Amino acid sequence: MTMPAQRAGNEAASSFRPEMSLGEALRVLTRLLTEAGLDTPQQDARFLMQGLLGFDGAQLLSRSGRPLGDAAGRIGEAAARRIGHEPVSRILGRRAFYGRDFIVTPDVLDPRPDTEAVVDLALDLIRSRGLSEAPLTIADIGTGSGILIVTLLAELPNARGLATDISAAALAVARRNAEALGVAARIQFVATTGLDGVSGPFDLVISNPPYISTEEIAALEPDVKDFDPGQALDGGVDGLRVYREIARNIMELHAPSLVVLEVGATQAAEVEGIFSESGAQPIGRRQDLGGHTRAVALEIHL
Ligand code: GLN
Repeated sequence: MTMPAQRAGNEAASSFRPEMSLGEALRVLTRLLTEAGLDTPQQDARFLMQGLLGFDGAQLLSRSGRPLGDAAGRIGEAAARRIGHEPVSRILGRRAFYGRDFIVTPDVLDPRPDTEAVVDLALDLIRSRGLSEAPLTIADIGTGSGILIVTLLAELPNARGLATDISAAALAVARRNAEALGVAARIQFVATTGLDGVSGPFDLVISNPPYISTEEIAALEPDVKDFDPGQALDGGVDGLRVYREIARNIMELHAPSLVVLEVGATQAAEVEGIFSESGAQPIGRRQDLGGHTRAVALEIHL
């Protein structure tokens, strides 16, 4: 944290008093986050207040005249952390993804709304083939918080999953999410690189691999660079290293499969190229909320 940010953080921590109303606290928090130069101060302030108080948006509004009480300390501390660029989800320890609440810790990539494109594309393919009720097997490579596999198993009642990660700490978070969302009995967790040592076959392989080039990482915003685990971001010299490993892994399974991958904003064609070289065919793309192609689907026939 820079010195001015630290001073602003200390000041923020003491700006909230128990007798202050919720409405006033929301205004003060929004102002402090605006002054700190954060990108989305209004939204951050609202999410932090809702999360810390356990209210939804309507409750926060209708109870705006109430005093903060003993929440004042928590809100001051959260304000100081956000001013230090810690993401809202990390402060709250939770993040919504595809309509469900996930536990988030420093060991996992902060789930991004853009990643919902991977779920949408995978579900579209499965539904269009009439496989929603089928006993599908799904592998999730680099599961992190588990958002992809847990969401798909929650949406597909008869599917089973295998989730890998190189980080045992991340797998522990994914397991907690699987338990909290009622799908743990259908998932196996394996600490490994890619699908090394795993035997398929899988009807579907999904992944949101690290895809930022090593060089670009230094230029990322502090909210990302200082808080997301480096190994969840770093895709090697050209950002495509892990896609090549995944292509090799999937070919080694020697089985037909659908593959749905998240890609960086400019990587769709290159990733499709990597898989085409191995004999996979591109069969679909999905855009994120910003209009970038964020997910690609490939099919391996044998
Ligand atoms: N699968 C997790 C996600 O989509 C983690 C991805 C990662 O760590 N690169 O958020």
